[in-house]
Amino acid sequence: MPEPVSPIDTNELLEWYDRAQRDLPWRRPGVSAWQILVSEFMLQQTPVARVQPIWLDWIARWPTPSATAAASAADVLRAWGKLGYPRRAKRLHECASVIAAEHDDTVPADVDTLLTLPGVGTYTARAVACFAYRQRVPVVDTNVRRVVARAVHGLHDAGPPSSTRDLADVEALLPDDETAPKFSVALMEFGATVCTARAPRCGLCPLPHCAWRSRGFPAGTGPAKRVQKFAGTDRQVRGRLLDVLRGTASPVTRAELDVAWTTDTAQRDRALDSLLVDGLVEQTADGRFALCGEGEQT
Ligand code: SF4
Repeated sequence: MPEPVSPIDTNELLEWYDRAQRDLPWRRPGVSAWQILVSEFMLQQTPVARVQPIWLDWIARWPTPSATAAASAADVLRAWGKLGYPRRAKRLHECASVIAAEHDDTVPADVDTLLTLPGVGTYTARAVACFAYRQRVPVVDTNVRRVVARAVHGLHDAGPPSSTRDLADVEALLPDDETAPKFSVALMEFGATVCTARAPRCGLCPLPHCAWRSRGFPAGTGPAKRVQKFAGTDRQVRGRLLDVLRGTASPVTRAELDVAWTTDTAQRDRALDSLLVDGLVEQTADGRFALCGEGEQT
């Protein structure tokens, strides 16, 4: 049975965005493509409220790719602070180095070139092309997938991602004129603040048509999403170990690291191994541990 189609009303969405958008620093005039790229790296798995202060400090300290590339990998990891998933910081540093060395310190504008950069995937490449260079390209994140699933396809949630289908879905919604980039950011903002995952604010919805609402809000058929807990996970242990190393400029002994997590020693060993494998931590010749790039100081 073909799915009912209820294209999202462009004018209503854009008018809603004009009056309801959040004042986020990376959306302000004068923010460079590099600074937008930094925000996208940080926002990939971290909420806006935690990203804002780190991003502001970051771009004040390292406003360009070359400035970031000139910093040490360890200082970049320190500045990443508590944003989590610190492999992103390492990839961002590598990305800055490539842009500085191979792209004249300027973030490329086309999606295919963006996709060649370290740490830049389908979403980030299109987000930069759209938000920094005002291109008409579909930008699909979790929020956008959810809005399309509900408003267009009449489903509770989007189901498993499919980059081909998801991009085609959003491409079909984009206006053909110069409002396309604004439509993209508005759609994302709408999913983040109104058509939210757990409690969509349908009473405040500016869209005149929503297929899910028309169908009487049928429940989802997939398994209920479990809220990811952080306490006790390997991610928490990795964070504790990195905290020890961020707080010192010289390598530390294994015993100094071990006190960071005493609950489960096997888990601690596993976390440390993974940090070494990821290249975030390195071991000195005499067996101590340091942030990447700082182990050779012995
Ligand atoms: S009516 Fe509710 S579910 Fe439909 S688009 Fe609006 S906020 Fe989302």
